[in-house]
Amino acid sequence: MNHKTELDKIYQKLKDIKFALDASSIVAITDNNGIVTYANEKFCEISQYSEAELIGSNHNIINSGFHPSSFFKDLWETIQDGNVWRGEIKNKAKDGTYYWVDTTIVPFLTPDGEVYQYISVRHDITTRKEHEAYIERMAYTDPVTKLPNRNHFRKWVENQPIQPQEVVAVLYLDLDRFKAINDNFGHDTGDAMLKTVANRLKECLTESDFISRQGGDEFIIILKNNLSEHAIQALATTILKQIRLPYQIDDKQMSTSASIGISRQAYVSKEWPSITFIESIMKQADTAMYHAKRNGGNQYCFNTEDQNILLERNYQIDLELKEALGRNEFTVVYQPIVNLKNNKIVGLEALLRWHNKKLGFVAPNEFIPILEENGMIVPVGKWILATVCSQMKVWQEQGILLQRICVNVSPMQFKDKKFIHDLQEILNESLLDASYLEIEITEGTILDIETSSRTINKLKELGVNVSIDDFGTGYSSLSYLKRLPIDTLKIDKSFIDDLDRDGEIIANTIISMGKNLNFRVIAEGIESEDQLNYLKKQKCHEGQGYYFSKPIGDGEITELFSQLG
Ligand code: C2E
Ligand code: MG
Ligand code: MG
Repeated sequence: MNHKTELDKIYQKLKDIKFALDASSIVAITDNNGIVTYANEKFCEISQYSEAELIGSNHNIINSGFHPSSFFKDLWETIQDGNVWRGEIKNKAKDGTYYWVDTTIVPFLTPDGEVYQYISVRHDITTRKEHEAYIERMAYTDPVTKLPNRNHFRKWVENQPIQPQEVVAVLYLDLDRFKAINDNFGHDTGDAMLKTVANRLKECLTESDFISRQGGDEFIIILKNNLSEHAIQALATTILKQIRLPYQIDDKQMSTSASIGISRQAYVSKEWPSITFIESIMKQADTAMYHAKRNGGNQYCFNTEDQNILLERNYQIDLELKEALGRNEFTVVYQPIVNLKNNKIVGLEALLRWHNKKLGFVAPNEFIPILEENGMIVPVGKWILATVCSQMKVWQEQGILLQRICVNVSPMQFKDKKFIHDLQEILNESLLDASYLEIEITEGTILDIETSSRTINKLKELGVNVSIDDFGTGYSSLSYLKRLPIDTLKIDKSFIDDLDRDGEIIANTIISMGKNLNFRVIAEGIESEDQLNYLKKQKCHEGQGYYFSKPIGDGEITELFSQLG
């Protein structure tokens, strides 16, 4: 065959079908059996084979093995049918390196329609492909730990073949008190620690396990291969041990621990997309992690049916709470606070109640944490303050004289930027003198002493009283409280309960130290005469509890005072 004339013919044909060739085009011609009959200089250059090596060889010597067989099946079908095929192919050069080419393959037909040869025209797109791969890697890699990130996790799960009945386990790991590391040592140190944690985790795992960083200090590990509960326990124990080892970062040595929630489930149905299946186990593992954390951290916890029920109930509560204010489902009840010297009611504590059509009566200890989580505590808290202040004003106008009305304020509400502004507005509108209002906060609220003392000072400027509720259950000490302009300490009910069990030492200490620091001291949850007598002996100022009265509605309070005259 005279190459020159044949080529001219081909070039002419390519021109006819408006197929552009330029100096960078990599051109080859193969016969119908895939044997190379022509390769231009560019082809030789990129493939690193000489012309002599190529001519007569099968075109597949540059196959990389990267593409699945279906890819070539589609290619062959297209060109055998006499159609032009276009696509991107990864090829292998003689030295084993790979290159990417943007490829067009044009079949040539005999006058009676038989394909007799193919011409392929390629352009080198290796650099572009490398960039794309880099960007893809970046999009799927956590920059700090170099572990797969959340996107990667999703993609991985979506592409996971899971067999029916296959057991999959998810370990949801969260470092304990990691925020303190960041706050105390800075983010660079925090990042360095995360990196070490990631490396230690990787060392605990095998090739087939998947691990990703979900963000913050959360990691997810997915274990396939039908692992037994026992094997997972052993792995979790190893991980906890590894995480507990000291961390040397720059010149500092530090330590941390982790909480791990575990869920292990069998995949039931093929119809169930694997992502939905894994997401559901992940949620269970997350719930279990929360339990591990609540039990003090540095432990693993398997998901249980009880936890799932609780999760479902909390979800229902959350849904209903979002509508509760609008549906007028909240009410306020009041519990008398009694002066222990003369048994007179000196104040009331306002307590929130919620009655929902579907869920019935839900206890504050159950729904208030959820109001905190979903942020509803801010509007609800505002509603309580407004309701209580105007009720107190009504009572004052009826001649019911009380020294104080106490309202619980949750940490989130207290830290809300508009808290003081809103409170001022409520006081103005209700015309209640601020000195009749007492705000109850817990020790948890004042842990951040800088910010909390600013708000407490503003409250004092307004003339509002401040008390520390459930005192003794949190982290603050009395000397710590000395630095804050607080009026009242409410001793937690648990210490009053202990009075019956010879546990009076703590209660005594709190009462006497509180009095020394000039706080008003209130005992909460007095239920028996013995408790009352004991507290009277200790000269505790005030008390509150079922012994005197349960929390009651505003109507009953009005009635109570009218009876008292
Ligand atoms: P708390 O502020 O310490 O309120 C005292 C709790 O102890 C109330 O429970 C009260 O009914 C209960 N109690 C009082 N005396 C006795 C007694 O002699 N025996 C027993 N067993 N219990 C007694 P409640 O109303 O269920 O409230 C629980 C917690 O929910 C409150 O504890 C408070 O932390 C929170 N809470 C209640 N209302 C509000 C509110 O309006 N806003 C906020 N942020 N939290 C609230
Ligand atoms: Mg309280
Ligand atoms: Mg309390």
